[in-house]
Amino acid sequence: MQQWILHSPGQISLETVLKPTPNEGDLLIRVLAATTCGTDLKAYLRGHPQIPMPGGFGHEWCGVVEKAGTGAKYSAGDEVCGVHTAPCFHCRWCLRGQENLCETIMQTKVMGSFATHLLVPKRIADVNVFRLPLGFPPEVGCLIEPLACVMEGYSQLKPDREDEIAIIGPGAIGLLFAVALQKFGHHNVVIYGRTQERLRLAESMGIRSAHTNDLVLGQYDAVIECTGTLDVWQSSLNYVRKGGTVVLFGGLPSGTQAQFDAGLLHYSQIKILSPFHFGSQPVKMAWDLLQSYPDSFMPLISAKVGLQYLPEVLQKLQNRNGIKYALIP
Ligand SMILES: [Zn+2]
Ligand SMILES: [Zn+2]
Repeated sequence: MQQWILHSPGQISLETVLKPTPNEGDLLIRVLAATTCGTDLKAYLRGHPQIPMPGGFGHEWCGVVEKAGTGAKYSAGDEVCGVHTAPCFHCRWCLRGQENLCETIMQTKVMGSFATHLLVPKRIADVNVFRLPLGFPPEVGCLIEPLACVMEGYSQLKPDREDEIAIIGPGAIGLLFAVALQKFGHHNVVIYGRTQERLRLAESMGIRSAHTNDLVLGQYDAVIECTGTLDVWQSSLNYVRKGGTVVLFGGLPSGTQAQFDAGLLHYSQIKILSPFHFGSQPVKMAWDLLQSYPDSFMPLISAKVGLQYLPEVLQKLQNRNGIKYALIP
């Protein structure tokens, strides 16, 4: 089988590796599509604490079961999508309803979806893998992972229907958030950005958009930061009204110091959320949404390209050209 290996930041190669054999409950997947993610680009450019190197590259996937271990939940020929982790359900955090913080969630993650094949272990196959309906576009199935992150954020935010919500950053995560809010009946949502092309894309998806300069101080019940930039982390607090909530979604490198006005935080009673990863319930919510509205998510896929074009795709993403690319082996 062929797999892209990330050796160190900036160093990748497409290699022939041994095809793994599924043990009890595992699934050997023949990849139908694997999408690129902001996390992949971060790992490629500067390394990432959750992405071991050298190692298989890519974590968003959709495929067909080529071989199933004994007692596996799915059988050969089933088309499935899923995420790359699953909680243990018995550690302190899992028992407290914080499965996204599960002690071992990152120890069993599946990496290496930019490949012809991928082994999904039983722990994940049993919980976080779903069968595609007939004819479901595999590149949309891949979106279950980033959408699960968004659903974790949504579940923590628990917005009211009437809430005035600003999303800052019309990249993949911002747009996923906007589509999800729209489908859940939140109509007072605007996505803010600086790139005309991305704002136009948002509009074409039926999402209200505006230039970041049009953000109004103290105006929103919730501000959802989806840029992963220190500037926006710090300025987001200025845009929520008293009692509002800021969701700092785009992770910054560890060691980054962010500054807030302590008076504003306290006397306006602003709540800060910074959701990381996802538990099993948000994964189910993500799959329900994708299954119900595949066409609404399709515009996030900027292009479908062959597996060998990963270097070109990473270059495009670096140039902020396109939202997500689907690699098709
Ligand atoms: Zn991802
Ligand atoms: Zn756990």
